[in-house]
Amino acid sequence: MNRDVVLELIRVRQPISRADLARLSGLQRSTVSLIIEELLEEGWIREGAVVHRPRGRRPTLIGLNDDLAMLVCDIRPTHAIVAVVDLNGRFLSRESLPIVSDPSKTLTLIIERMKKMQRKHTQKTFEGVGISLPGRYDRESQKMLFAPNLKWPPFDIQRTLERGMGMKVEMGNAANACLLSEMWFGHMDGVRNAVLVTISEGIGAGILANGQLVMGQHGMAGEFGHIPVDPAGPKCACGAVGCWETVASSTAALRYYAELSHNARELTLQDLIKLAEEGDQHADAALKKQACLIGRGMRSIVAALSPEVILVTGDITSAWTRVSPVIQEQMVAQVLAGSPPRLIAVDESEVARLRGAAALVLQRHTGQHRPKKDRGA
Ligand SMILES: [Zn+2]
Repeated sequence: MNRDVVLELIRVRQPISRADLARLSGLQRSTVSLIIEELLEEGWIREGAVVHRPRGRRPTLIGLNDDLAMLVCDIRPTHAIVAVVDLNGRFLSRESLPIVSDPSKTLTLIIERMKKMQRKHTQKTFEGVGISLPGRYDRESQKMLFAPNLKWPPFDIQRTLERGMGMKVEMGNAANACLLSEMWFGHMDGVRNAVLVTISEGIGAGILANGQLVMGQHGMAGEFGHIPVDPAGPKCACGAVGCWETVASSTAALRYYAELSHNARELTLQDLIKLAEEGDQHADAALKKQACLIGRGMRSIVAALSPEVILVTGDITSAWTRVSPVIQEQMVAQVLAGSPPRLIAVDESEVARLRGAAALVLQRHTGQHRPKKDRGA
C-alpha cells in the first residue's frame, strides 16, 4: 500500500524529490528510500534533473519512467483501435482496423499491427498488452462471459494474444478500463466512491466502492445497462426486454430520431448531434429523450451505491451541454437524502478506453491487484 501511495504521489507531483515524497506521504525517509529503490529497479520511475539550491543538498528529482510503454487495444463492435501508450498516458501511435465476425482473423490483424508498432518504438520497454472489451471478461476462467454487441463465437482472446505477442495480456471491460484510466491518468484524487457509466452502442458501468474496483462474481458487477426499465420496450441483445440500454443508448437515440422524423437514413450519433446543432428539432428531441432515460436509469445507481461522482463517457459526451441538464434533473428527482452525486463527463471514449487498457496493465502492479506472490515487499 505504501508503494502505491508513493507511486501515486510521483505521478501527480512529478518531478519530485525524496524529501518532498516523505513529507507528503507522511512515511519515514528510510521507507520512502526503500520504495524508491524498488521502483527504480523495476523501471517504473527514473531520476532526472538535480535541483540547484543556493545551500546544502542538491536533491535529485524523480519522475515516472516514460520509456515504459504499453501496447493497447480497444475492441469495439465495429472496429478496433490499436495504440502505444506510455506511462504518463501519452499516445505514441494509434491506428484503427476493422472487426470481422471471425475472432481469429481479427486477432491476427491486431497482433500484426501491435508488432509493427513495437518495431517502430524500439527505444521503449513494453510492459505488457492491455485490452478493453465491449463486454465482461472473467479473469479466472479467462473467458468472455457477456458481450451481446460483439457477435463473436467463444474464443480464447487472451491466450491467442499472449502467444502472438509473447507478453502478458490484461483484459477488462470498457467501463472498468475507463474508471481505471481516471484513477491512473485523471483527476480522481480523494474520491473513493464513484461509478463510471459508458454510453455508446450499449451501456456499461464500472464501480469504485470504498476505494476498490468492484468486480463481483465472474467480473459481472456493474451491468446496470441490463436492468429492465420498460416492460413495453424493445428486445435487448441480452435476450431480455426493455433493458436500460435499449432505451438510453446511442442506438435508442437514433431510433427515436427515425420515429420522430420518419427518416430511414443510416445515421451515427455524431450525425444526430450535428443535426441538432444545425437546428433540427427532431434530432434535439431524440437526444433529450435519450438524456431523460439516462437520468432515470441513474436513479438505481444512486440508490444502490450512493457514489460521490458519476462519470460519464462515450458518444453522448459530445452533446454534453445539450444533454447534461436533462440527465441531472432526472437523476436528482429521487435522491433520498443528502446531496446528489456530481455528474461529470470524462474524456472522449476512445482515449479513455485506450488509456484504461494501459491502466489495466499498470493495475497489475498495485497492491490491491498485485498477484499474491508479488506482494510481501
Ligand atoms: Zn439487456
